[in-house]
Amino acid sequence: MSVRVRADLDSLPAYVAGRTVPGSTKLASNEVSRGPLPSVVEAITRAAHEVHRYPDMAATELVDDLAERLDVPVERIAVGCGSVALCQQIVQAMCVPGDEVVFPWRSFEAYPILTRVAGANEVRVPLTAENALDLDALAAAITGSTRVVFVCTPNNPTGTALHEDELVAFLDRVPSDVLVVLDEAYREFVDDPKAPDGVELTRRWDNVVSLRTFSKAYGLAGLRVGYAVAPPEVAEALRKVYIPFSVNAVAQAAAVASLGAREELEQRCAEVIAERKRVGDRLLELGYRVPPTQANFVWVPLGERTRAFNEHCLENRVVVRAFTGDGARVTVGTPQENDALLEAAASFAG
Ligand code: PMP
Repeated sequence: MSVRVRADLDSLPAYVAGRTVPGSTKLASNEVSRGPLPSVVEAITRAAHEVHRYPDMAATELVDDLAERLDVPVERIAVGCGSVALCQQIVQAMCVPGDEVVFPWRSFEAYPILTRVAGANEVRVPLTAENALDLDALAAAITGSTRVVFVCTPNNPTGTALHEDELVAFLDRVPSDVLVVLDEAYREFVDDPKAPDGVELTRRWDNVVSLRTFSKAYGLAGLRVGYAVAPPEVAEALRKVYIPFSVNAVAQAAAVASLGAREELEQRCAEVIAERKRVGDRLLELGYRVPPTQANFVWVPLGERTRAFNEHCLENRVVVRAFTGDGARVTVGTPQENDALLEAAASFAG
């Protein structure tokens, strides 16, 4: 007799992480290109002296700080080991086997994996022809078995962001016993005044969660910390299914320091936003049909040419994230890194 691993794991799609190729520019994981601020490194160093102790399970300082800055009660905040862990906690807290989780597709590739690991059923709703979320189709996909709907805005990997009025109309249509998760991992890069602020929407609906992360605009991808602003009973459930101590003390300290360095980080976001426009405009000029993006990446629809584009970029020492048969997602990096990408894109097109 041998141990029996769940048979259904055989067909589970793998989570593909962006590759690091020595000597090449990595524009594959939507990270920021610049390293942590000195004040954040200092906080990390200070916290390092205490790592023989378990971290504060409640992440008290971080949660208090977030509560104050966002003007929400601490009961409505839950932290997680990256917002991907919070996606998992949400599905675990809301679903039993056989329940349905609805999400747009293509979108964040963890959604189908986490859904299936929880024994729930995935319902993928295609994007519009313009690579945007199709809210009518998402609403129509909700059934009596639906427990969770993920709404990723800006959407990974296409970068498109919803407008507040369309999202509000959607939320009005969603049954109140279905949890809508606004995955706002890239919210800090949004500059469209018509885009929604998910935290604000959590004040108006009792079935809405906003998910945010320190991995992207705050530049702490390697430390793994994210947070949810949720109805109190959902936040409590997220804490129940939390893997004890999974947000470590160094990550907590770095997140608190990052909140304190908000202006410097906003300045960095502004640089990314300016570069995003330059990269997007140039790709359009080159004939690539890139959709408007509000994130720190650009979607390049390539269909069958995706693999060739990926290889061409690799030959030119630029690592992008290719989705075979569909397109490539390219992170906006420093001006120099973006120039390398644009040169590769130009010689591919030409
Ligand atoms: N949501 C979206 C849409 C993402 O793109 C990512 C990261 N790729 C995450 C959540 C998870 O980020 P993290 O776990 O680093 O917070």
